[in-house]
Amino acid sequence: MRGLLALTVLFVAVFGKETFEGHQVLRMYAKNEDQLALINDLEDNHEFELDFWRGVTDVRTPVDVRVPHHNLRSIKIHLESNAIDYSIMIGDLQAMLDEERMEMVSAARVPEPKNADSYDYARYHPINEIYSFQDMLVAENPKLVSKIVIGKSYEGRPLNVLKFSTGGTNRPAIWIDTGIHSREWVTQASGTWFAKKIVDDYGRDPALTAILNKMDIYLEIVTNPDGYYFSHTSNRMWRKTRKPNPGSSCIGVDPNRNWDAGFGGAGASGSPCAETYRGPKANSESEVKSIVDFVKSHGNFKAFISLHAYSQMLLYPYGYTKTPCKDDTELHSLAKKAVTDLASLYGTRYRFGSIINTIYQASGGSIDWSYNQGIKYSFTFELRDTGRYGFILPTNQIIPTATETWQALMAIMNHTYKNPY
Ligand SMILES: [Zn+2]
Repeated sequence: MRGLLALTVLFVAVFGKETFEGHQVLRMYAKNEDQLALINDLEDNHEFELDFWRGVTDVRTPVDVRVPHHNLRSIKIHLESNAIDYSIMIGDLQAMLDEERMEMVSAARVPEPKNADSYDYARYHPINEIYSFQDMLVAENPKLVSKIVIGKSYEGRPLNVLKFSTGGTNRPAIWIDTGIHSREWVTQASGTWFAKKIVDDYGRDPALTAILNKMDIYLEIVTNPDGYYFSHTSNRMWRKTRKPNPGSSCIGVDPNRNWDAGFGGAGASGSPCAETYRGPKANSESEVKSIVDFVKSHGNFKAFISLHAYSQMLLYPYGYTKTPCKDDTELHSLAKKAVTDLASLYGTRYRFGSIINTIYQASGGSIDWSYNQGIKYSFTFELRDTGRYGFILPTNQIIPTATETWQALMAIMNHTYKNPY
């Protein structure tokens, strides 16, 4: 048996993909604070090899956890013996991944798009296709779009940022990033759609045109390229960077716990094997450090928006402290307007508020850092869905997700434009 297991591990390591055969995503419901604490303890307990898709918030909010097949029995016994209710959100994760993969394989037979118009925005693309899309968009719109390489990932991939600008020097600017957590594929797909939307709407949509006549927009679509590549080739569930951790066999740092804002505090892990590992020090990841250096040297960013999935929330600082940020009232009402605009298309409901009051305490997050740099309009999104598919959002939801999110982005960008500071 052990030999077979070793062989399986070897097979996966040498020949390809990690499989999630029989893995289930369980939704756990805490009835009280004691049960919530028990679920919380599971996050630090590596014996069950759990992967928290949606972490512990409060007793009103369920927690989603991926459980490997060989630990399902023991975790269910553990939950039942503590009278914690649960349901099965995803019965066999691999079956869902196979479906996603089959769709990608058949899409791959379609010839490569020759221009940004023929790019298929309604599917998930590997990194090389997103990179060629960026180059096509730049080549087709040289007066509006340029590509800036702000650094290199650990494995040496370029960190590409699209700059949308109609002129001027060092204009006030808006930062948008997608895909800092690599498995949140609907974010990179939405980012690609936004890039095309900006090009299409400039000169047509009066609000966006006004913004771009005064401000620049910077968009980093593949913010964690090594993780994104790995999520396509080896492990669909990969979230972190791909830098090895000295002294540990576990790879990678959570690039949204690595920023210099409450770094090392509660809501991030010091263990290299944890999905929320903060790293050895703030800015240890080049994917983070490159943005930090770029934003600081630019010096004129007025909004900083970071997109994640899933759970449908719009959040503002802080995550590392309960102390409300000094613009709490303004950010709260802007978030309310943004989620109202978002819901106007398909009725998709978002929760909103500060990170610590809406999801959980999280330290070392990007928008806490940007806010502390003086960038008032700092927001983070958690896109669709609320857990039916989680990270494996079906491709027919990509364009609706991007379209509704754009309404909220426009609300934030418009407010930023109209309230210079
Ligand atoms: Zn995320």
